[in-house]
Amino acid sequence: MKPLIAAATVALSMMEPALAADATATTAASELQITRARTRGINPGPADWFTGTVKVEMLYTPVGAEHASAGNVTFSPGARTAWHSHPLGQTLVVTAGIGRVQRWGGPLEEIRVGDVVHIPAHVKHWHGAAPDWMEQVSNEQYRAELN
Ligand code: MN
Repeated sequence: MKPLIAAATVALSMMEPALAADATATTAASELQITRARTRGINPGPADWFTGTVKVEMLYTPVGAEHASAGNVTFSPGARTAWHSHPLGQTLVVTAGIGRVQRWGGPLEEIRVGDVVHIPAHVKHWHGAAPDWMEQVSNEQYRAELN
């Protein structure tokens, strides 16, 4: 597997309202729930949902009457979702790299760090990383004297 180059890898924080599963479900209502960085599972994106190498880290899922979930999804260069839609819409926040997004019948859009994309409910779309690879960093370049 080729090493990833940060500039060509895109990481999206994806927030999606969730359909109400069970509004009557409750948890220990007064307890804070903290999941520490680097303790959550990171799983490969399923092949029937994605093309290319994709890593998915769920940040949170709805609890009780809540209606939102969020995940960090990292797309290697050229990786992308299948065409899909979300019943309650989706918001993408680009946290690293350069990506692409397109709605069905719309223009291909480039998205960069800090860009926020709101995808309305039921709008068919895809999103993923830009395809570009930059050249490898040579050993000579990597080991050069620091300034
Ligand atoms: Mn989507």
